[in-house]
Amino acid sequence: MTDDETTLHAQCLCGSIALRVRASALSPIQVCHCSVCRRAQGGPFATNIPADASGVEFVRGKDHLKGYESSPGKTRWFCPTCGSPIHSTKDTLPGVLRLRAGLFTEPLPVRPVFHAHVDSGVTWWPLNDDLPQFAEGADAKALPAKMTVDVTGIDHIYITVTDMARAEAFYDRVMLAVLGHRKNTFSIHGDPHIQYYNRHFGFVLRPARTDRPHDSYSAGLHHFCLRVDSIADVQQVAKALADQGITATPAENYPQYADDYWATFFNDPDGIRLEITNYRQERRRRHDRWHQLGTPA
Ligand SMILES: [Zn+2]
Ligand SMILES: [Zn+2]
Repeated sequence: MTDDETTLHAQCLCGSIALRVRASALSPIQVCHCSVCRRAQGGPFATNIPADASGVEFVRGKDHLKGYESSPGKTRWFCPTCGSPIHSTKDTLPGVLRLRAGLFTEPLPVRPVFHAHVDSGVTWWPLNDDLPQFAEGADAKALPAKMTVDVTGIDHIYITVTDMARAEAFYDRVMLAVLGHRKNTFSIHGDPHIQYYNRHFGFVLRPARTDRPHDSYSAGLHHFCLRVDSIADVQQVAKALADQGITATPAENYPQYADDYWATFFNDPDGIRLEITNYRQERRRRHDRWHQLGTPA
């Protein structure tokens, strides 16, 4: 190990066993929920880092290590004084030490990459991150080939309106009074803009250059749908729109779209169709179980 590479330090609870580890020897952290790992750690899962053995140096206690062959050809090594699990080795993976991530002193340069054996996992630990989950062992082929960029939302949308004052009066009621947004104004190339925004995105009005009303079936925007959390929220919005004097359809269930699809529809003064819908189960599953559901074609 040369000194110009980042070196990390790991040790057992009592300090009898200490390691120096070259950062570049570490692979991403594998989270294993199998019953063997759970028992070996005494926790809901193990966080294992496959490391290139050439980058791992025992500073102390290599001879102190005790091994337990938890399955044929797989040995889990631990400190016999304090019981800390240190690493595991597999006969089929020579040259690899699977280090336990919790032993390190410094912040790790690697991150968890998947959950394995989740079908054997405990029921009391919520898995609500975005990592791929495997019912049994991890299938490397099912992992994304590389890190892909994750688009996390719509940042802003601009619509054009034929009458700024009329549109502002309308959207003040919808976006400020009913939907709790805030408002600011700015200009681009001399054109006044009005932005309604919340913590998630911005909805911006700018002046149209023709008097033609919006045509949902010309190229461009057909309709715009905002999501609220629950069916009760859709019902509340529909009522609040009516209270603001805005003609909107009653909050209704549309089972032809999905069993729990609820929505209210209304139009802006230029004829842009607006919709409010709830965060339905299929969308929640798509969000929470993206990796398990596979990659759409
Ligand atoms: Zn120890
Ligand atoms: Zn395991």
